[in-house]
Amino acid sequence: MKINSNYNNLKDNYLFANVSQKMKDYKSDNPDVNIISLGIGDVTLPLAPTVVEAMKRAVMEMGNADTFRGYGEYQGYDFLQEAICGYYGQKGVALQSKEVFINDGAKSDLGNILDIFSEDNTVLIPDPVYPVYVDTNIMAGRKIIYINGNSENAFLPLPDQDIKSDIIYLCSPNNPTGAVYSAEQLELWVKYALENDAVIIYDSAYEIFIRDELLPTSIYQIRDARLCAIEFCSFSKMAGFTGTRCGYTVIPQELIRNGAALNKLWLRRQTTKFNGVPYIVQRGAEAVFTDGGMSQIKSDIDYYLNNARIITDTLETLDIWYTGGSNSPYIWLKCPNNMSSWEFFDFLLKEANIVGTPGAGFGTNGEGYFRLTAFADRENVITAMKKLAVTF
Ligand code: PLP
Repeated sequence: MKINSNYNNLKDNYLFANVSQKMKDYKSDNPDVNIISLGIGDVTLPLAPTVVEAMKRAVMEMGNADTFRGYGEYQGYDFLQEAICGYYGQKGVALQSKEVFINDGAKSDLGNILDIFSEDNTVLIPDPVYPVYVDTNIMAGRKIIYINGNSENAFLPLPDQDIKSDIIYLCSPNNPTGAVYSAEQLELWVKYALENDAVIIYDSAYEIFIRDELLPTSIYQIRDARLCAIEFCSFSKMAGFTGTRCGYTVIPQELIRNGAALNKLWLRRQTTKFNGVPYIVQRGAEAVFTDGGMSQIKSDIDYYLNNARIITDTLETLDIWYTGGSNSPYIWLKCPNNMSSWEFFDFLLKEANIVGTPGAGFGTNGEGYFRLTAFADRENVITAMKKLAVTF
């Protein structure tokens, strides 16, 4: 018996464990200090009332013999697929229901999608990055090439014609940097993918935070993207489903590699390894797209974006370089006075009692940078920024 020895190549992920240990130690040495966390990538507002009502109705249906449902459709219920197609229609993107696969959150499918690709493929991943892209490929033993995000390219790396790759990861708005690709930049990626016969894994988990109408919220707003991209989105940050679990993956019918339709391959994979998302959860997700749901969700996103604005206003006053915050819940800042990411973490904790996430935890290029998030209570954000302002 042999284990998958690729797991030996994974780095232990101490990032959030270290953050929480340092926070605990500081709290136990300074019990009277109120520490404010701007480090969490989880929502803080509850589910919208419209969503809760829809779920309650679904629970009642499940408890009634006439309306009870057992196993659902592998790809998700029609009502939710159609609601998602309607949402894309408003973005000017025409999707068919059978191109939409409902899942239990984007993280699962971002990892699982690799089942349909050969292990020989070379993968292109930006650095810094959401660690799931890296670890899932290390587990499969794939060759990874990193492309550099840095202050020169505003953490929006573009294709390098000298690099050949088969699978490309793009995340926009980005976690951790908050940077958002423009349509012109995504056109370059689509062109590169088509020239290389590659597939783009496009993570749009934070698309709802984009308020600038010129910025794309889906890769399919870019011409020919249907020929080379799979899009992953989620209700987690859009509608507070981090604990409720629902997302979706879009695979266009035209996406064909080695003569095989990736949509068919993925359906085959799902029917073998996945038994669907609970009916109750899918009814809740459907309610997100009603007028009531959308307006409640918009006001939650406004709340987070206003938190982000308070943070970026303070950074501007302090002349600290940053990306993100305007079309994203993440603010990615350059640690002042050339501090390393962890030095700045310690400094911020001791001097301003704020906890954030050291950029070094997201890749080599994250060293010297720091991530703050807008997922927090308004009063806490205001207090934290006042403290930060007097610290410098
Ligand atoms: N993609 C990105 C960039 C994320 O930051 C996250 C969660 O933090 C996810 C995907 C996963 O979201 P979920 O599995 O909750 O849908």
